[in-house]
Amino acid sequence: MMKPIEELYQKLRDENIRITQQRRAIIEALAGNHLTLQDLHLAMKLKGFRNLGTIYNNLDFLMDQKIITEVYIKGKKHYDLVMGKESHHTADQHIHLSCSVNNRIVEIDDKDLFDLIKNHEIFKGFNINKMQIVVEGECPNYDPKSCKITSACHVAHLT
Ligand SMILES: [Zn+2]
Ligand SMILES: [Zn+2]
Repeated sequence: MMKPIEELYQKLRDENIRITQQRRAIIEALAGNHLTLQDLHLAMKLKGFRNLGTIYNNLDFLMDQKIITEVYIKGKKHYDLVMGKESHHTADQHIHLSCSVNNRIVEIDDKDLFDLIKNHEIFKGFNINKMQIVVEGECPNYDPKSCKITSACHVAHLT
């Protein structure tokens, strides 16, 4: 089975989208991470790409191609990579859960949950084009100290 990131590169090749070094670096920086522009800029600097203008242009391009999307956690924009065909997380449909202590963000890639919402009576006959849900809150056995430790936060174990 192909890894999601390899699937993504295949999709780009199939659509004749040029995978430049910088586009590849952006995709790699976002694999498994939801980053603010500031975080992404920092990650890109470490990879040798310093020009924020060209990073921004490539981000725009990848968003137009629906390879990257945006998710707002506590009003802050985070860039988010759209994963492979098997995923229910697309540019226009995603559910995220965020722990309010450390703002860790995880994707809820659960078909049943998406179906439950889409098939709900309220949306009967409604053609859903976009569904972006962010659930913020405290972990079970809420303990701010343990949530600061990556492995102790409940949200970290959902991925
Ligand atoms: Zn996401
Ligand atoms: Zn937590």
